[in-house]
Amino acid sequence: MDLTAQLRSTIRDVADFPKPGIVFKDITPVLADGRLFRGVTDRFADELKGLGVTKIVGIDARGFIFAGAVASQLGLGFIPIRKKGKLPWRTRSAAYKLEYGESVVEIHEDAVEKGETVALIDDVLATGGTAAAAVKLLAQCGAEVVRAAFLMELGFLGGRSQLGATPVVSLVIY
Ligand code: AMP
Repeated sequence: MDLTAQLRSTIRDVADFPKPGIVFKDITPVLADGRLFRGVTDRFADELKGLGVTKIVGIDARGFIFAGAVASQLGLGFIPIRKKGKLPWRTRSAAYKLEYGESVVEIHEDAVEKGETVALIDDVLATGGTAAAAVKLLAQCGAEVVRAAFLMELGFLGGRSQLGATPVVSLVIY
């Protein structure tokens, strides 16, 4: 079985979590399988090498798991983008729309340098609001996101269109 097929058969659908009508894509069975977890980070590392990337940026919280591992595999720095109020130093922030209401993500203002080329990693691209806010934050810092990589993409939600010109790679598309 190829990596995508293995992921499809391992990612667990949990109906009505965290609220009615949402099918939550549970990646914990992927993380618990050492070979599959390594297969995912190897694939991300392959996709991201040769692009001149200097930092790997992960999105709070499941994105950190993959972004940290990939950064380590490539010998690059890891940068967290977190939900509001979690980062201890001075931050820049970006607000984005949720289905109901708004959320805010933050980055340390000195996390990346002007002119840096970075890659973004998260577990799920859903509506794209979170990833678009992350790209916006990095642009404010003067960094360019040359690839946004996701374990899976919920294609029916059209999140890719939120990312404009940023090239997207997803290992599984639903
Ligand atoms: P969005 O901003 O709508 O693209 O949502 C992306 C973020 O929400 C990601 O960080 C995911 O971890 C999480 N997320 C959204 N939808 C799901 C889902 N159906 N299953 C698991 N995680 C999700």
